[in-house]
Amino acid sequence: MTQATSAPLESSSGRSRAVAAGLTLRQSRRRRPAEVRAHNRAVVLGLLFHGEPVSRAQLARTTGLAPVTISDLVSELLAEGIVAEAGTAKQPRVGKPPTLVAFQHGSRQLVALDLSEVKVARGAVLDLSGRILHRRSASLGDPAHLAEHLEDLARELLALTSAPVLGLGIGTPGLVDPAGYLVEASNLASHDLALAEILHQRLGVPVHVENDANVLALGEVTFGHAPEHGLLTVALGLGVGAGIVLHGTLIRGHRLAAGEIGHITVDEEGPTCACGRRGCLEGAVSSSTLRARLGADTGPSAQRIRAEAGATLGRVLAPIVSALNLQQLRLFGPTEIYGGAFIEALEGTVRGRILPALAADLDVHFSPLGEDAVLTGAVVPVLIGELGFS
Ligand SMILES: [Zn+2]
Repeated sequence: MTQATSAPLESSSGRSRAVAAGLTLRQSRRRRPAEVRAHNRAVVLGLLFHGEPVSRAQLARTTGLAPVTISDLVSELLAEGIVAEAGTAKQPRVGKPPTLVAFQHGSRQLVALDLSEVKVARGAVLDLSGRILHRRSASLGDPAHLAEHLEDLARELLALTSAPVLGLGIGTPGLVDPAGYLVEASNLASHDLALAEILHQRLGVPVHVENDANVLALGEVTFGHAPEHGLLTVALGLGVGAGIVLHGTLIRGHRLAAGEIGHITVDEEGPTCACGRRGCLEGAVSSSTLRARLGADTGPSAQRIRAEAGATLGRVLAPIVSALNLQQLRLFGPTEIYGGAFIEALEGTVRGRILPALAADLDVHFSPLGEDAVLTGAVVPVLIGELGFS
């Protein structure tokens, strides 16, 4: 449940009933009743979204909320069709078995756009479980008309939806603020664009825009079963980017650039980079660099090239893993380049450079979400923004 607090609140006390994973240093004011209700609703929705059908009594026990509060919230969600009654519980005791309620993943649909391939936008209609129902793609063409291209593609996808639309989620390279303002996206030759606001005005649905590497991290937690206390996702392709989730919070950083590891210097004598400096990580491990170096070679020298590149990335990631005590490292990218010797050298290098106790806990592997990970992950900012959970 990234960014959505999982501890329920009772309005009678105005205080959290459970200990949060992080420390809140300053409480500036008491929560208003409407905020408490929205928070409790999100907690119940999150439990139902991720769990099996449960009775109202079980929900009350799990959340610690009063049965009357649960009954009220469930009635509201039933009326909205987001949950539905789903049979009765099997129980050995005599008496009327309780009715179960279940989350309805098909009750709403979303449109997601993946801009990470630079010249082509991939789009999809998905349900709330992240299942892709329809796909479309479009050329991004002239960067000056990025919003228009995306509007056309989103309209085409919205016309394919067959349930109420929760919103539009977009994963894009570059720096994006929490309001969906594209501060800088050099790969798209675009900057200073109020993308979420423009598309919301034109399409009439809620729009949530997020950096593509961040979207991958969010998707891993919600749909990839990654732990939310210490996750690093690394997207390898034409660029190199990372997303960090720590104690259930996506880390954005001072200038929204947390995880922008592509321009860390790895070789002071290396090739000149588009950023103007020499020997950036991106130039050493991007898919275009490695494809050019590997050519058609699949022999021992190709394995050595891939292992060297994996070790280079490992030397960059080890201090990050160590400083933040991260437990899970998940990679995204074409496995024909980054599988085998690359990921083995990467993992070995990271493990060899951090405290042995941390290395023992570290888990390194490819994401289970595959090529559609940005589309699936772009669902999550919409879930958080519109329903309050993930
Ligand atoms: Zn650079």
